[in-house]
Amino acid sequence: MAIRDAGVATLLKTFVHRSIRSVHETLCNRGLPTKIGVYFHSIESGNYDAFREMAEFFHAEGYRFTNPDTFLTDPDERCVYVSFDDNYKAWHDAIPLFDALDITATFFVNTVCVRDKASDAEIAAYYERLEFDGTRIPLSTSELRELDSAGHTIGAHTHSHFQLTALSFEQAQAEILRSKNELEEILGRPVLHFSYPFGMRRHFSEQLRSWCMDVGFSSVSNAIPCLLHAGHKPSGLNRCLWNLEMPPSYNLSNISIDGRHFVKITGRSVVG
Ligand SMILES: [Zn+2]
Repeated sequence: MAIRDAGVATLLKTFVHRSIRSVHETLCNRGLPTKIGVYFHSIESGNYDAFREMAEFFHAEGYRFTNPDTFLTDPDERCVYVSFDDNYKAWHDAIPLFDALDITATFFVNTVCVRDKASDAEIAAYYERLEFDGTRIPLSTSELRELDSAGHTIGAHTHSHFQLTALSFEQAQAEILRSKNELEEILGRPVLHFSYPFGMRRHFSEQLRSWCMDVGFSSVSNAIPCLLHAGHKPSGLNRCLWNLEMPPSYNLSNISIDGRHFVKITGRSVVG
């Protein structure tokens, strides 16, 4: 009985979500914004064609790929800020792909699982926590340095990828600082950019956001899509998940919808 009720609840939720999305697509589609933030997790070789298609589309539309340092420099310049969250060796494998597509990306890294520093158990527990079931190989310190020296930006994503609002403020601060400090030690340079684990509105607080800027980050990224027409601030860069398993039309629609009111009322994204 309970299982049937849960199934009905899921169906109802999906129906409501799809209906809201369809209304937003009709009423709130404002075309592509000048500044676009997209993020990915891993990038497996099976997804290279879809990634290439995404990059070629934006190049053809006159967008330049940038990092958080230059994303907002010229308000009129069409820019795409491409970032990747968590920790995957697959990012390092994709360096030739990024080079071929003239993309410099930003990689937000969890430090608990750096391959030559962590135990197998720590690495397994990390990917369990993310519920990630792809190729579970994290970056080594030398691969992190090579990504950095290939012109990409390395940012912090906390040490362990816990949900920050489930921790005390002090624990959240320690998680963030530990990833910043460990990455700075590996790279030998300041780490100036941060993205929240999970990254929706309920996963961080305003107090935490302002502390991040006080502690030396020059940008903080979330994972709240559909705010892309709101005008970015370095302390709140909005990013929309680009799903490489879905067609470009689906992803472009997500970027074009203005869902500010929806997220304000519900705390959730209209695109899921
Ligand atoms: Zn993450």
